[in-house]
Formats: sequence, structure tokens, C-alpha cells
Amino acid sequence: MRLSRYLLPTLKENPAEAQVVSHRLMLRAGMIRQEAAGIYAWLPLGLRVLRKIERIVREEMDRAGAIELLMPTLQLADLWRESGRYDAYGAEMLRITDRHKRELLYGPTNEEMVTEIFRSYVSSWRSLPLNLYQVQWKFRDEQRPRFGLMRGREFLMKDGYSFDLDEAGAQRSYNRMFVAYLRLFARMGIKAIPMRAETGPIGGDLSHEFIVLAQTGESAVYCDGRVLELPIPDADIDYAGDLQPVIDAWTAPYAATEDVHDTARFERDVTPGHRVHTRGIEVGQIFYFGTRYSVPMKANVTGADGMNVPIHGGCYGVGVSRLLGAIIEASHDEHGIVWPASVTPFALGLVNLKSGDVRTDEACEALYAQLQAAGLDVLLDDTDDRAGAKFARMDLIGLPWQLIVGPRGLDVGMVELKQRSNGERRELSIEAAVQVLVASYPNEKDHPHE
Ligand code: ATP
Ligand code: MG
Repeated sequence: MRLSRYLLPTLKENPAEAQVVSHRLMLRAGMIRQEAAGIYAWLPLGLRVLRKIERIVREEMDRAGAIELLMPTLQLADLWRESGRYDAYGAEMLRITDRHKRELLYGPTNEEMVTEIFRSYVSSWRSLPLNLYQVQWKFRDEQRPRFGLMRGREFLMKDGYSFDLDEAGAQRSYNRMFVAYLRLFARMGIKAIPMRAETGPIGGDLSHEFIVLAQTGESAVYCDGRVLELPIPDADIDYAGDLQPVIDAWTAPYAATEDVHDTARFERDVTPGHRVHTRGIEVGQIFYFGTRYSVPMKANVTGADGMNVPIHGGCYGVGVSRLLGAIIEASHDEHGIVWPASVTPFALGLVNLKSGDVRTDEACEALYAQLQAAGLDVLLDDTDDRAGAKFARMDLIGLPWQLIVGPRGLDVGMVELKQRSNGERRELSIEAAVQVLVASYPNEKDHPHE
């Protein structure tokens, strides 16, 4: 992408309305624009990150055996009357009436609809387990939308739903999602700790929230600091095998949200040196809720013994758009965002220090073509701005690498490569710089997206 033809409306000043650093940086980096309270337009740079996050979520869901579908944002009120939640949900639900006076709502979550789909097509234990997921916009008319994408009213969620014959099967489905969540958050470069949590309006009795520790988080949390050191399961983990040992290892150290915190147990089980009491950002939550929806909505299957039984369900949410905020909270410095390579909007920024100088322009064009051919997304700064402004902008938008090309370096066949995470700058030959860049994105050839 050529910056001169892109839409990247960066801001020099801190916007007054933004209270947390991730919100400030997203506005300053020209990633999002507020259209109404808690409702945002995704500008091109922000959309690229959103898509990268979605891609990781989908890859890990698919790996764990979940199947993607897509349900509409609008749902019939009558569907929610079947489960008894239409009246119970309260003011957070956006209720809509169409021209025929039919009552609709903008979905805050999809248990009812996915149960309705399931019961229409599945009637035998032989089809189980089944796990269906979508990545779809949700609307919750939050009392206090704030912190940018962290607590929006319209937000993107991955929501998945599992269907099993009995509780033991549902526990195995829950375990698969637990492991998939450990992997997908780690791939985004963040540490999300599974913590025991309350089940809330979803209902049910087993739940974990995945929490990124951050002072700006909205939930108070308590945990044993050693949970931060546990190893993440490998990509080739056998999802058909027994995952219980992994779950046991991750749930053995104390970790709980404020709602279910047990002070006596915390003080008994965690030595003072390991006690962590801080705040956190909820980036995902998983639930086992048994027959909460299948009984009222009559989602039954015939078991091997010929008996007709209600299925045991679970649901699994990831805050896809909230993750942009959580990742930035965890990865930034005084100059701007520091993107982890897996979610960066572009692989690198190619900085032309003297646009208009024939030799520098030619060198930049050649590098631009070569790097893109190697599968890397390049943002070429071909604007007329001063060098200082170009550097500040690149630091602000946080791409992992800056490849800086100017006439003085070219005289001796050299370019400069700057690594955003540690600020390290290296003078390299053009070939050496290309090699470093290509080697730092080993998987990009498998995922060309330009
Ligand atoms: P919270 O406690 O933060 O209000 P929740 O527990 O009501 O969230 P869930 O129903 O568990 O939310 O939804 C799944 C995920 O969707 C959450 O873990 C969170 O990451 C994300 N999410 C929920 N509400 C919002 C929101 N208003 N804005 C952005 N993301 C949200
Ligand atoms: Mg939750």
C-alpha cells in the first residue's frame, strides 16, 4: 500500500475524550472513528488488525473441530420468549419493530437462534458432538459505553455453541474450547489467564473468563502469579484425546474474578510472594450450561438406547473487537503502538527519506515489489512529509519493522532496518535487509492477502 493513496488520518494530539491508552492510540493512529456512543467505523488500518485477529480465531476454532456458520444480527422476539429471556434481558437489549409491527431485536448473543437451528436438523446422538460458531456483530445497549472498543455498544464477537448427549460429553467439548482459547490468545501475543467466573444471564454452573492483566481493566482479579508461566499447548495437540490433564494444570493455581473470589482459599493456597491482586480485561468467556436452553426449547436427540433426551450445551465467546484494545494495552510505549507480528496491519513500513529523488524512488519501488512478491504487506511512505514526521508516524502506528531508504545510504549500497519493539537500528545491504524481513514472517507465504 502506498501511503500517498491510503486513508491514514493520524492525529498529533491526544484526543480529550479518550481515557485509556489503547483508545487514545487507536484514535491517534487513525484506526477507528466514533460515529455514536459505543459505535465505531473501522478505518482501513483498524480493519486490517480486526481481520488478522479474526483469522487467528477461525484457525484455532477450526483446528479444535468447531464449524463456522453465520446467523443474522436481527432476531425475532418470539424466539427469545421460548427461552424466557426476552423479558429478563432488560434495557441492554435493542428492541426493534418492523413495518408489519413484528417485534425484533438486535442480537446481544445467539443461544436461542443456534438452538433453533440445531433442533431443526439434528435428532440423533450419532451427529454429536457438534460445535457451531460464528464471528458476528452484536449489540448491547451498555449503560456506560467507554474506553473505545473495550466497552462498545456494537462490537464483534466470536460466539460458539456446543451440543452433546450428556454432561461428560459437554465437559470434553468445554475442554477443547478451553485449550483452543489458550492457543488463540497466545498467538496474538497476549497472556490471557483462565479464571473461575460467575455465569451471569447465560445461566449454568461452570465458567471461566479469559483475562488479560492490565491496570485499566474493568474487573478486579486475584491469582497465583505462577499461572503466568504455564506452557501453551502446541498446535498439534490431539483434540480427540484426553485434554483433562491440560485443564487440570491450568486450573490448579488459584485464579478467580472478584465475583467468585474466596479470600480464605486465596490466603491458604497461595504463598504471599505469589499473590497477584490486580485488574484485568475480559477477552473471552466459556460456559457449560447443561439443559438451560434445550429443555425450554425442546432441543432433544435420540440416544443410543432409543431414549429422547435434551442436549447438554455450552457457549464460548471471544471479544474480537475488544481484543484490539487489550493487545494495545499490553503492547505499547511512549511513542505509540507496538504490534505483535501476528496481528500487525502491515508487515513493515518502507520509508522513502527523499520522495522525488529519482534514485531513492527507484530503490523504494524495487523493494516494494520484491517484498510484496515475497508475501509481505508493505506500507510504503511515499509522501512529501519531513523525515521526522515520517518516523513519528511509523512509531505511532507500530509496525514491527521500518525499512528506511535514503540517498546517503544508497551511495554506499546500504539501507537502515529498525525494529519497533526494541528500537534497534541496523545498517544493512539491501539483500541482507530483505532476508531479515522475509525470515521474520515465516508463515506469510501461506496467507497472501493482497
Ligand atoms: P462484560 O462482563 O465485559 O460486560 P460479558 O461477560 O457480558 O462482558 P460475554 O457475554 O461473556 O460478555 O461476551 C463474550 C465476550 O464478548 C466477552 O468476554 C468480551 O470480551 C466481549 N464483550 C462483551 N461485551 C462487550 C462490549 N460491550 N464491548 C466489547 N466487547 C464486549
Ligand atoms: Mg463474560
